[in-house]
Amino acid sequence: MTIKEDINKLRDKELFNRLVKTRNIGIVAHIDAGKTTTTERILYYTRRIYKIGSVDEGTATMDYMIQEKEHGITITSAATFFYWKDYFFNLIDTPGHVDFTIEVERSMRVLDGIIVIIDAANGVQPQTETVWRQADKYNIPRIVYVNKMDKLGANFYNALESIKERLLVKYIPIQIPIGSENEFKGVIDLINLKEVYWVNEDGSSYEFRDISEQNLEQTMNIRNLMLETIAELHDDFMIKYLEDRYTIDDIYNALRDITLRRDGVIVLCGSSLKNIGVQLLLDAVIDFLPNPLDFINIEAFRVNKDLQEEKIKINLLDYHHNSKTLALCFKVSYLPNVGRVCFLRVYSGKLEEGSAVKNANKDVSERITKILKLHANYIESISKLEMGDIGAALGLKKTSTGDTICDFSDEKIVLESINIPPSVIFTAIEAESKAEEEKLFKALERLAEEDPTFRYKINEESGQIIISGMGELHLEIIKDRLIRDYNLKIYSGKPQVEYKETITTKAQGEYRFSKQISNKLQTAYVILQVQPIENGVKIYDEVSEEKIPKKFIPSIREGISEALVVGPLAGYSCINLKVRIIDGEFDPNFSTNLAFKVAAYEATKIAISNANPILLEPVMKVEIIVNEEYLGNVINDLNSRNAEILEISIYQQISTIVINKILALVPLREMFGYSTTLRSLTQGRATFTMELHSYKKVHDNILKSILGIF
Ligand code: GDP
Ligand code: MG
Repeated sequence: MTIKEDINKLRDKELFNRLVKTRNIGIVAHIDAGKTTTTERILYYTRRIYKIGSVDEGTATMDYMIQEKEHGITITSAATFFYWKDYFFNLIDTPGHVDFTIEVERSMRVLDGIIVIIDAANGVQPQTETVWRQADKYNIPRIVYVNKMDKLGANFYNALESIKERLLVKYIPIQIPIGSENEFKGVIDLINLKEVYWVNEDGSSYEFRDISEQNLEQTMNIRNLMLETIAELHDDFMIKYLEDRYTIDDIYNALRDITLRRDGVIVLCGSSLKNIGVQLLLDAVIDFLPNPLDFINIEAFRVNKDLQEEKIKINLLDYHHNSKTLALCFKVSYLPNVGRVCFLRVYSGKLEEGSAVKNANKDVSERITKILKLHANYIESISKLEMGDIGAALGLKKTSTGDTICDFSDEKIVLESINIPPSVIFTAIEAESKAEEEKLFKALERLAEEDPTFRYKINEESGQIIISGMGELHLEIIKDRLIRDYNLKIYSGKPQVEYKETITTKAQGEYRFSKQISNKLQTAYVILQVQPIENGVKIYDEVSEEKIPKKFIPSIREGISEALVVGPLAGYSCINLKVRIIDGEFDPNFSTNLAFKVAAYEATKIAISNANPILLEPVMKVEIIVNEEYLGNVINDLNSRNAEILEISIYQQISTIVINKILALVPLREMFGYSTTLRSLTQGRATFTMELHSYKKVHDNILKSILGIF
């Protein structure tokens, strides 16, 4: 063995020991299921905080924004870290409201496992279904915690059924509750066959006791069902189970495999508010959720000189051994008194204070001035961030959400980026005075950097500032932040639908640019072709090096992208099309990047106008949960809003009360102020969520009125 191999082995041992004891986890759920309440307990039992904060009193550690305290909801995902039984946890608490879905999306991108919290009285709720699907997209292993077992109407077994029905996954309870509602006293650990009771008020002490006579039969019955389900999902365990020679360790190992493969989901229960169950939830994270070594082969993209991406598989340990750093920026935040902070997950290598790093997406070198670990809004400075860890860096100016940090001296790798949903509503805003305008733009720029689903632009014709986002609440919070966090006085208009534009046929556009700029002739000639596609916007460079040298292509791409922001019909951005750069000319003496950018911009506008553009509108998938007595009212109202009703079903039945679920597709323009309407239609006995479903061509008869807006 060479010395190098020896050293690697030693280093490996250290690395392995650290990584198998690391958990990067998140907590997700429908709004109000108890994410923040549970997180407070976790921080308290792991001695990160010394007093349990309360969401209801606005003192939760993780909901630190003033807007979060006031609305009682989580808006930004907050990061923290702690130790539990000598395991190191990074934890991200995410919002439940769909308007802030980007926070869920970006957290999922960098987490290894998640805890899904369900309200024991409500079962799986619509937003839980949404985050479950998001987690599917990122292949994240998860466990379920049925919270609020103390609440009126809590029913563990109904909650289990709702997991099967709404999340379409096999559930495997590894606990059952002892009593429920105000009789809820503790849990039974089905694996180790113990009753667990929390014995002091803050829930910091708990005891394991033998199963009592009265609970024995039910416990053994459900334990047998648990074992059968595990056997069904795990071949090795099946053999041992049939031969009756399995150990407790075999159960743990099989459950871990099943969780990592996502063949079934482990379910625990408790009441975070009453301080029952939380420690066992942390144990389950250690026992079943993955560590960073469990998924060491990842997919990424290799970028060649023409900026074309090729999908590759990489082994992060190989990268690490070659001292190659790979990290993903998943969030940018401007913190008071600190400045611009980039949140990063390090996949291999390390990030060090004072070191230079390269951003593969922006093609720039940057310097990290400080490395930070964050605990909600408190900050600790550390010297480095190593493979498998999550933290933040100061000093990176160009790095933004979704960017990869990698050493690209020999090959440039970009990690899979973060899915950013389109904004669907906008409103015009105005600063109080011209003098304030500059301050306003600075604030908008920062807010947009922090939140990629928030965008702003200036309407070329009216000169108004347009801000756009995911929903009414999203824009409300943004305006509130402008006023309070940035001390601005602003006026705003009514929120309106953000339409999109697209094309319906193939077409061509060309533009020759030739102009004296600062006493120098600048020329460029570009021919483009546009054509409709199903999804997204794609730009392909198909022109030969002799016609247009590769060095001008980035400027051409920029020109095209800028032209696509303002569509020809009503100035909305263009989607679902591809642009091919097919021909052109350059002059070795007079062609410049600027000239190519302008030529591409103009050629794109011409091509799109030639391609029979149409206006598209966002259609929302709306889910309404409503007591049966108000069902008729809600349906009638939906019909008057041009809704397409997809499904009416029974959602839940509590003794004689039937609760229905309505699933419908409704144009967003019909949904403004819907929460107020729904409240008055049902005396507050209904809830709804909506998310973007698709874009549909705007009907000709309403097209005119829309175009009239501009
Ligand atoms: P989040 O929106 O998922 O972060 O939920 P919160 O933690 O903000 O909790 C929403 C509400 O449910 C608050 O009023 C909590 O006090 C309450 N809550 C949280 N956990 C429990 C629980 O275990 N039992 C009961 N009865 N209420 C709870
Ligand atoms: Mg919360």
